[in-house]
Amino acid sequence: MFKAVLIEKDEQGYRAALKQVDESVLPEGDVTVKVSHSTLNYKDGLAISGKSPVVRQFPMIPGIDLVGEVTECTSGKFNVGDKVLLNGFGVGEVHCGGLGEVARLKSEWLIPLPAGFTPAQAMAIGTAGYTAMLCVMALEKQGVKPEDGTVLVTGANGGVGSFAIALLAKLGYTVAASTGRVNEADYLKKLGASEIIDRATLSEKGRPLGKEIWAGAVDTVGSQTLANVCSQIKYGGAVAACGLAGGFDLPATVMPFILRGVTLAGVDSVMRSLEDRQQAWTRLAELVDASVLDSIAVTIPLEDAIETANGLLEGKVRGRVVVEI
Ligand code: NAP
Repeated sequence: MFKAVLIEKDEQGYRAALKQVDESVLPEGDVTVKVSHSTLNYKDGLAISGKSPVVRQFPMIPGIDLVGEVTECTSGKFNVGDKVLLNGFGVGEVHCGGLGEVARLKSEWLIPLPAGFTPAQAMAIGTAGYTAMLCVMALEKQGVKPEDGTVLVTGANGGVGSFAIALLAKLGYTVAASTGRVNEADYLKKLGASEIIDRATLSEKGRPLGKEIWAGAVDTVGSQTLANVCSQIKYGGAVAACGLAGGFDLPATVMPFILRGVTLAGVDSVMRSLEDRQQAWTRLAELVDASVLDSIAVTIPLEDAIETANGLLEGKVRGRVVVEI
């Protein structure tokens, strides 16, 4: 038996609870990991609250990220005692995840814990930081350079938003942060934002082509916000879109794309190749200072995970949450 958050769905309804669970709950896999740390992402909030059909297999241990120590591996890829990291691959959605003391996984989903990070630091970054890195790499691929102008980050106080600000600022970009929590301006400026924008200015229907303001953008919000952001991108600029915190629709026109050559670059972190993952984590190790992690992340025990996950969806959580298992 081991301790885990367990999501069940049956005639009694959809519910999440901290429980002692039997190892028989774990799915098949060629590697078993003693989990030391996990995190709470937006998707974990959706899974635990049941607000969106993220979980597609029951019972489910949520947690799309984990770090731990290998206790058994039949594939030969890892040795007992190796420290490993997992982000995504449907773990915490269709395959039991990180919010429990034991995880059974496929060894091809794991990478060694990146050098330079403790398990807690790697989880402070987690899927959010790794996705922010993928977004920055997408802007770089589209040729957005620091000298081209300001880069906008939406959902700035969230996990992806906070890391996007810190990474862009470290790379020399001027960063504007769009947020519903302008009272958190000091936090956002400490991360590297030089301008704070009230998100309400981007959430109402705007013009198909607005004033050219941003050289690029990292968008975690979607919907009308993404449409407005695209309409404000300078000629030849790009938007890395990864999120739907404001909605999954996109009420946009083609005007920014066909008249200004704007690129809308979609960013998925879940099924990303191991090569891309390792590249992103290598860049994170180069760019993220321990002091940034201290600013962005708080640590909670597994016992508080359910309550905190619900608060995350209500916009009560700033930055990142590390869960000590
Ligand atoms: P998070 O920590 O909960 O942050 C989301 C932020 O979005 C909030 O802090 C808030 O920022 C803003 N927000 C919330 N509701 C909003 C609304 N109705 N309208 C406008 N802004 C709103 O979540 P996260 O883990 O950073 O993830 C952010 C988004 O990226 C989520 O949609 C998540 O599903 C997505 N994501 C996608 C991938 C991928 O692979 N594509 C990977 C990771 C995350 P302010 O308080 O500053 O306004």
